Amino acid sequence: MKELSIHASNHSYKVQIGKGLRHTVGSMIAKDYSHVMIITDSQVAPLYLEDVKHSLTGTPIDTVIFPAGEQAKSMSQYEELLTACIENSLDRKSLIIALGGGVVGDLAGFVAATYMRGIDYIQMPTTVLAHDSSVGGKVAINHPLGKNLIGSFHSPVQVLYDVETLQTLPYHELRSGYAEIIKHGCLDDPDLFHDATSRSLADEAITEVLEDHLLKGIAIKASVVEQDEKETGIRKYLNLGHTLGHAIESEAGYGHVTHGEAVAIGLLFAMYVSKEKLEASMPIANLYAWLGKQGYPLNVLTHLDTSSLVDRMKKDKKSTSGKVNMVLLEELGKPVMMEVKETELTELLNRFKEE
Ligand code: NAD
Ligand code: MG
Repeated sequence: MKELSIHASNHSYKVQIGKGLRHTVGSMIAKDYSHVMIITDSQVAPLYLEDVKHSLTGTPIDTVIFPAGEQAKSMSQYEELLTACIENSLDRKSLIIALGGGVVGDLAGFVAATYMRGIDYIQMPTTVLAHDSSVGGKVAINHPLGKNLIGSFHSPVQVLYDVETLQTLPYHELRSGYAEIIKHGCLDDPDLFHDATSRSLADEAITEVLEDHLLKGIAIKASVVEQDEKETGIRKYLNLGHTLGHAIESEAGYGHVTHGEAVAIGLLFAMYVSKEKLEASMPIANLYAWLGKQGYPLNVLTHLDTSSLVDRMKKDKKSTSGKVNMVLLEELGKPVMMEVKETELTELLNRFKEE
């Protein structure tokens, strides 16, 4: 097992990552709690809920299972979970365990952030993407008018990452999460970038390096968040690849491309713009070839309209008064924020689509 400490503004917490941790959760929890509520989704529950329950002895345990999928991050599901907390008499000394991917973490974390003005919760990530969502303390649900619009900053008291659970993760979910590992590599760890993009994700052998890749990704996210918890400065760098990524996701229609797949194309574009505007030397051809081999849907962009994508990028939360602020790279490991004018962005995107 490997460990990492994360220092949030009002407390520190540990990320523990290793094989089989779901069997030892009980002995790893640092504090005594009056009551434990495990929140998970319908796909993860039949796989891992019993193991986690078995490991917890002596404390009253309740479980809530909600239907898997992004649509669960809704007001109505949030209310149902609060009702379950009240009906099961959770108090301020109770603990919530979020067992699952980013959806479970965001939703259960927001319940923990708001129930009785905030109670403790533990993140138990079970997807690759959740290496990103389980640290940093952002928790949220969606509003019908936009994603993650209702939320809070509430850090977990612990993150327990059992990498064995990733063995059941569907391949396209593994691929999706890997885009964020590669993003973290681009931001602060060129070796991680090169190592990850030299491997085949479909290969069994990936399980041998997964723990190392996840830990490095978490360390990068953690160090950025530690310096800027509330996103007033460098936390914005974590949006590398997300300006076009978010535009692709919403333009293609949520569910048609995964978040990570869209981010992967966004990363390529950020590299392309970095090359054109900063004369940065970027491994664009390598990344393109690798993404293609792993089956990322690189042709999705050709079906999307440039001006609609640019319109969406202008509405991105980093953009101000119609100008688009993009995270670019001076070189691998050196992000910068740069304003790109609409006309320039349109031209760059058109050329990028052709190349
Ligand atoms: P997810 O939680 O929906 O998981 C993807 C799918 O895999 C689901 O169907 C789930 O049931 C299933 N699954 C999970 N673990 C499994 C396992 N071990 N074996 C088999 N199936 C498994 O999605 P995700 O990609 O993990 O997370 C996406 C969410 O994370 C989004 O809502 C996004 O907004 C959020 N997010 C939050 C932050 C943050 O900082 N809070 C950062 C990034 C993303
Ligand atoms: Mg992301």
